[in-house]
Amino acid sequence: MKIAFLSESPADEAAIRVLTEAVLGQSIEVHAPLKLRARGWPSVLNLLHAVISSLQYETDVDGLVVIVDSNGTPLHKQEKPIPCDPHCRLCQLLVRRDCTLSQLRPRAGQASIRVAIGLAMPAIEAWYLCGKYQDVGECLSAEQMAENRLRTTRKRLKVRAYGTDVLPMQLLTQKAVEYSNGLAASLAMLEARFPIGFGGFAAQIKSWR
Ligand SMILES: [Zn+2]
Repeated sequence: MKIAFLSESPADEAAIRVLTEAVLGQSIEVHAPLKLRARGWPSVLNLLHAVISSLQYETDVDGLVVIVDSNGTPLHKQEKPIPCDPHCRLCQLLVRRDCTLSQLRPRAGQASIRVAIGLAMPAIEAWYLCGKYQDVGECLSAEQMAENRLRTTRKRLKVRAYGTDVLPMQLLTQKAVEYSNGLAASLAMLEARFPIGFGGFAAQIKSWR
């Protein structure tokens, strides 16, 4: 299965490759880095339509994996119709994905591209630290957000994960892969602590098997 990745940084992409392979339970072929590369949240959303279309028509990629940080935006509410909240990043991506997929022309000899989307609450470092700290998880993050401590929370996550809140991309990527390799053996815990942002993502990936 050939898969492409779209997220906010090369370090995030490296981590998500490892996690995607672990959830799928089979090795994947990674599509070459996208010509359209996103850096930060707005560019992931803005590029999504173009990236899906280009992969559908110009490549033989089977699936696209998209992960973003929630940062200060609300946690996705699964029980509500989409969008659950106009500021929910997951809903914004799901709406754009579904709109794009509904417009695609079929491709000859291959099923249409599939797109799985996940949301790291409040940042992917929270996934890395899952199981290492009791105050890391989606619900607790929501409480911390309500107290307007998000900035502190994000900084503390980075310091806990990397020993500093500023690290060169190469080292960030190395750390991201190390953490993800550890998480690959604890997927059930990650799904339990992050049932919406990671659990929902894992369910989409499992449907590709
Ligand atoms: Zn939502």
